[in-house]
Amino acid sequence: METATIDPRRDPTRGAEPAVWALVGQTPLIPLESETPKRASGTLFLKAEWMNPGGSVKDRPAREILRAGLAEGFLPTRRLLDASSGNTAVAYAMLGAAAGLGVTVCVPRNASVERFQLLKLYGAEVIESDPLEGSDGAIRLARQLAEASPDRYWYANQYDHPANPESHYRTTGPEIWNDTSGSITHLVAGVGTSGTLMGTGRFLKEMKADIRLIAVEPSEPFHGLEGLKHMATALVPGIYDPSRIDRTIFVETESAEDKVRALAKDQGLFVGWSVGAAVIAAERIIDEAGTGAPGTRPVVVVIAPDGGTRYLSETRRLVPD
Ligand code: PMP
Repeated sequence: METATIDPRRDPTRGAEPAVWALVGQTPLIPLESETPKRASGTLFLKAEWMNPGGSVKDRPAREILRAGLAEGFLPTRRLLDASSGNTAVAYAMLGAAAGLGVTVCVPRNASVERFQLLKLYGAEVIESDPLEGSDGAIRLARQLAEASPDRYWYANQYDHPANPESHYRTTGPEIWNDTSGSITHLVAGVGTSGTLMGTGRFLKEMKADIRLIAVEPSEPFHGLEGLKHMATALVPGIYDPSRIDRTIFVETESAEDKVRALAKDQGLFVGWSVGAAVIAAERIIDEAGTGAPGTRPVVVVIAPDGGTRYLSETRRLVPD
């Protein structure tokens, strides 16, 4: 086994967490202006997860998983290892850097350039997986590494780790409940690991059983919605429980891109591709509800996992020269 030199910041008995860990969560809820009079029949909010210190929703599960690894003694003697489509990798790298923890991440080679640059800046070890295999290729690579070097790596496995949904049960769910004063009727979230929808949804259903949980998936196995999984053809995460979901809405990459462009231009909100997909799904729900009396209108909260700046190098897809 590799003998690790213990950085004083890595001592889990030391108590206090790095200051940046405390900045995770408490993100704002932004009301989205309606584009059509019909849509005024419902209220749509974006949960602005790009405001987290690492720039995405994945700071929440990453912090909870790192805490579990420290509490259970897997860290700091081994390196945290995980597969990620990018945002979890950046979250681990940022939080790990602050705590002096070693982080190794397997990321598909076609993840955005911004993600790779951030990972380098935070000092993470990055292992690129076959872009044609998507996030599943990264998972398979992480499994192989963990099996080959069990003394070097602790394979955290965000797709199966209960701390992933738990982080949302403990933070995202209560924040949304409080910030809507309990008026939320629908939660809309794209599913990758499904941790956001599972954990936030479980909390909200406990508060009010008739809140509808809406999953958003890409309409095809090969898609450009970074962070989302086409469950029917993908490695299904252990934490994913479809019986908890009320409805799944499938969205095409091109429609999501159109929505991202419109949100930037019309509302000054430059969001990631998966947000575009989730907003399309949310608008469908509001449109289907039609016009009803106040009090019967849907109040839809859309999880907005990241911002568009994380994809700036790819914006040529959105804004032709
Ligand atoms: N959108 C983006 C941009 C993401 O990075 C992720 C995380 N993979 C998701 C949506 C889905 O979140 P979750 O893993 O909690 O299902």
